[in-house]
Amino acid sequence: MFVEVLIEIKAKQVDKTFTYSVPKEYQEDMHVGIRVLVPFGKKQLEGFVLKMDYQKEVDYPVKDILSLVDKEPVLNEEMLELGIFLKKKTFSTLISCYQSMLPTALKAKKNTTISKKYNTYIVLKKELENPTAKQLLLINKLKEKGRLLKKDAKEISLYAYKTLMDKNIIEEEMEECYRLEEMNTKIDKKVILNEEQMKAVKEVTSNLHTFTPYVLFGVTGSGKTEVYMHILENVLKENKEAIVLVPEISLTPQFVSTFKARFQSKIAILHSALSDGEKYDEWRKITRKEVSIVIGARSAIFAPLTNLGCIIIDEEHSSTYKQENTPRYHAIDIALYRAKKYNIPLILGSATPSIENYTKAKLGKYHLLTLKKRVNCNMPEVTLVDMKESIKCGNRLFSKELYQKIVDRLEKKEQTILLLNRRGYATIISCNDCGHVEKCPYCDIPLTYHKTSNTERCHYCGYGRGKMTSCPDCGSSEINQFGLGTQRLEEEMNKLFPQARIVRMDVDTTSKKGAHQQIIEDFGNGKYDILIGTQMIAKGLDFPNVTLVGVLNGDATLNIPDFRSGERTYQLLSQVAGRSGRGEKKGEVIIQAFNIDHYSIETAKYHDYEKFYKEEMNIRKKLHYPPYCYLSLIKIQSKDDTKLEKISIQIRKYLEQNTSHVIILGPSNPTIPKVNTIYYKQILLKYKKLEDIFKTFQDIYEQYKLNKDVLVEIDLNPMKI
Ligand code: ADP
Ligand code: ZN
Ligand code: ZN
Repeated sequence: MFVEVLIEIKAKQVDKTFTYSVPKEYQEDMHVGIRVLVPFGKKQLEGFVLKMDYQKEVDYPVKDILSLVDKEPVLNEEMLELGIFLKKKTFSTLISCYQSMLPTALKAKKNTTISKKYNTYIVLKKELENPTAKQLLLINKLKEKGRLLKKDAKEISLYAYKTLMDKNIIEEEMEECYRLEEMNTKIDKKVILNEEQMKAVKEVTSNLHTFTPYVLFGVTGSGKTEVYMHILENVLKENKEAIVLVPEISLTPQFVSTFKARFQSKIAILHSALSDGEKYDEWRKITRKEVSIVIGARSAIFAPLTNLGCIIIDEEHSSTYKQENTPRYHAIDIALYRAKKYNIPLILGSATPSIENYTKAKLGKYHLLTLKKRVNCNMPEVTLVDMKESIKCGNRLFSKELYQKIVDRLEKKEQTILLLNRRGYATIISCNDCGHVEKCPYCDIPLTYHKTSNTERCHYCGYGRGKMTSCPDCGSSEINQFGLGTQRLEEEMNKLFPQARIVRMDVDTTSKKGAHQQIIEDFGNGKYDILIGTQMIAKGLDFPNVTLVGVLNGDATLNIPDFRSGERTYQLLSQVAGRSGRGEKKGEVIIQAFNIDHYSIETAKYHDYEKFYKEEMNIRKKLHYPPYCYLSLIKIQSKDDTKLEKISIQIRKYLEQNTSHVIILGPSNPTIPKVNTIYYKQILLKYKKLEDIFKTFQDIYEQYKLNKDVLVEIDLNPMKI
């Protein structure tokens, strides 16, 4: 018997299987989709069996496989096929696709020993005559419960435990268990759906057996989660299964506990904050059919459920659904593929749908479901504060308006959430006094500063100019590239509001496992008056006592050098504003910004997505951005900048000669052109039809995949440019 084995060969894009023979002893247990250990050169490597050939003509010596790693396939038939789709879609090797579909414990990689965990129990084997009092206590407990955890038995009486073991009255029993502890779930609160919710649920559930993508556009607090759960109830009634994706579970513990309260133990959880062992356990619950719902972040879309009835993607606009290293897949593309395969609905939920998906809904390619009203019928009132004016009065951090509102909430014992946008883009230069940022005249993208040449450049098209030294808008020479961090903010606030109990949530305070959940729980229980944090506080939190949300630098996201910065700003402001006034009391929101007239900010004030959408679409049309065309990015990297330059130009020439109706921008420098010792270039393409360019992409990928000097990667529909 021969098998075709796919192995990962480090540092080489070798993308083919190798033939091995199978010794007699392994033939019976051989399956497609299992891992095997094989000799490769001088090494021993693990690989996936992709094909079993019982007879094969080979005219070269074939080596034997060394052993079987699995008894059961780790890749089922659907996943094997999905990998091929993924490879084509992302221009990457098949092995990299399979590896990223699997949890660490099941990847083909030698020496990853992630074992199963066992509990040891004590059971009664036979009766004992004349037991002592302590022994009797233990025996009776065992009779009552059937068995006891070893540690509990020892606790009852260590001495009795030992003697009973010695006399063979009791014995140990091992049972496989799962690492992830059951969360103490909150009590399930049954609600009666309102009319809008009911309509959405009905529409989907009357159509559970056809492939239909839905956009569920529901404002914050409109009860989308309830809609998801009602749909799932119907899916489970048919004995089918579902995947629910959330941007990052560790950021939305409330969401998970709501589901657990409703569906009890029928849920597996998959996300990046789990240990490899925990992920392995959750994965086994799925393959053993012990769960019907998988809730997880991006890669949970590969969960090996085999009887899917529905896929739900919450906050579908989130950029975390795109994987930013190879294979560069988007979870929605995989969801569409699987939903089509199973003939089931796909629900893309959001309070701020992505421009692309909302357009598809408008064009009738997707079905649109809307929830226009909040459950409590109260949208928070949003006030915009012009920081240019505030700075003139000497208030750089807190405007008078925001300061007074915070004091008011402290007096009323209501809670406040404050958002400070991360200033991750230290390479953007802005005016301290009016917030002005220089933009590319062709692409409308903020220019990024390049130290080596002391210039500001557009990383889309390569346009460049000298560094801004004084502000062309207000004349100020206060130009800098640094923002305030959350830690400094906390210190400032402790001085400004000495009576307030303040908690900070950012990457520093949440790095420890469970820290994030603890802060959220404590804040929810009223241990703090004010929660301050970065973008991570914008998502999913549902606290009825929060009546004020303040955004300190509302236009920071506008300065992200990306064509989606307007969209990101609208999304973030709506999301964070949505945290206010979710209970009985009315909510308020204060947004401080330099550009309060910008349409992304102004429309967020009125919760007017339609108007935002119209304005944004005008700009997308004018500058040829999606959805009016597709974008793709060719990323080229090398340790040798001369070779990088040469090959980048070569690729551009090749594109010019082999495509038509395609706009080619670059090669240009990405926002960070050099990391460690590696240099980067990129070429951006705008085109109307993928068919016009797909073949050329394939050629470029094939041409350079074995090149030792450069690495060429192709990113279809990039989320970050
Ligand atoms: P969204 O995800 O749309 O922002 P949620 O699903 O978090 O909104 O719902 C907001 C709050 O309203 C939650 O506390 C939820 O339990 C509650 N809720 C949802 N639907 C109803 C309903 N029909 N009646 C009463 N309360 C509801
Ligand atoms: Zn200025
Ligand atoms: Zn440009």
